[in-house]
Amino acid sequence: MSQEKKAVVALGGNAITREFEEGNIYQQFANTRRSLLGTVEMIKQGYKLAITHGNGPQVGNYLIRVEAARHLVPPLPLGVIVADVEGGMGYMIGQSLQNKLIREGIHRDVVTILTQVIVDRDDPSILNPTKFVGPFYQRDQVEKLQKERGWIIKEDPGRGYRRVVPSPKPITLVERNIIRQLFDQEVIVISTGGGGIPVYVEKDGTLEGVDGVVDKDLASAILAVEIGAKELFILTAVEKVALNYGKPNQIDLDTMTLSDAKRYLAEGHFPPGSMGPKIQAAIDFLERGGEIVVITSVEKHVEAIEGRTGTRIVPLI
Ligand code: ADP
Ligand code: MG
Repeated sequence: MSQEKKAVVALGGNAITREFEEGNIYQQFANTRRSLLGTVEMIKQGYKLAITHGNGPQVGNYLIRVEAARHLVPPLPLGVIVADVEGGMGYMIGQSLQNKLIREGIHRDVVTILTQVIVDRDDPSILNPTKFVGPFYQRDQVEKLQKERGWIIKEDPGRGYRRVVPSPKPITLVERNIIRQLFDQEVIVISTGGGGIPVYVEKDGTLEGVDGVVDKDLASAILAVEIGAKELFILTAVEKVALNYGKPNQIDLDTMTLSDAKRYLAEGHFPPGSMGPKIQAAIDFLERGGEIVVITSVEKHVEAIEGRTGTRIVPLI
């Protein structure tokens, strides 16, 4: 492995707003601080570091707010909501990290870059959206909402009816050069929040927003490649990636090679909405020069840096 320590840390949106909590701002700040313990350890070890984060629960809450206040203030489109949430979460993560560094006497600048992520305007998911967002609705509300809001609503099997939006594949980041420059100067950059704000490029080179969401794991892999990171840490709710997840014959994995990861993904061990994109992100990163991907929980991040837990995905053993 190369001498210089350069990593991207991707924080799960569920690590900051937890399913079993109300999700008020005190809880969000407390969870944010907790989710940064391993990151501070990496900074102490001299890593150049970029941080990304998810936004699922936060965008879900924002959509509820917009719907509830529709008769009082004009609604915002999803693209702008994603941008607003990226700013708010960037502020929370950035300030929490700055405060930790101040207390530790570590002098490193921290900045949040609002990131636009370029997608293909002909991406199949724009024509046929499948990503569920926001609250659940009753069956008898569906037709009215589809007509009045222009939404597409589908059944989330076993859970109810929900709006679906495009989740196009990320291609590159508009702000990649500035992020790379800051990263190279040892600034800790928070970017690509929630996967970034999806935009496509018009024929004349201008940008146009897409009312959709981009997967934060796939976008984090793109970021890691663009800035020349060697390591990608994906922090989520499980300590290790497993085969036969949730079944009696579950096997937790310490290590996977790139070819193992591809095979297990093809065999269906990693579902599309959760572990699938993390493994796909690992594959994308390792195929484009990445040296190692570590998937673990925020609680186990410190141990995982030392190689004592988590699942490590590497090009070859
Ligand atoms: P995040 O908010 O961090 O992106 P997700 O819920 O999208 O988290 O994905 C992580 C979840 O994927 C885990 O908490 C776990 O419940 C689930 N999961 C699905 N398949 C697996 C697997 N094979 N191994 C481990 N976890 C899995
Ligand atoms: Mg996820």
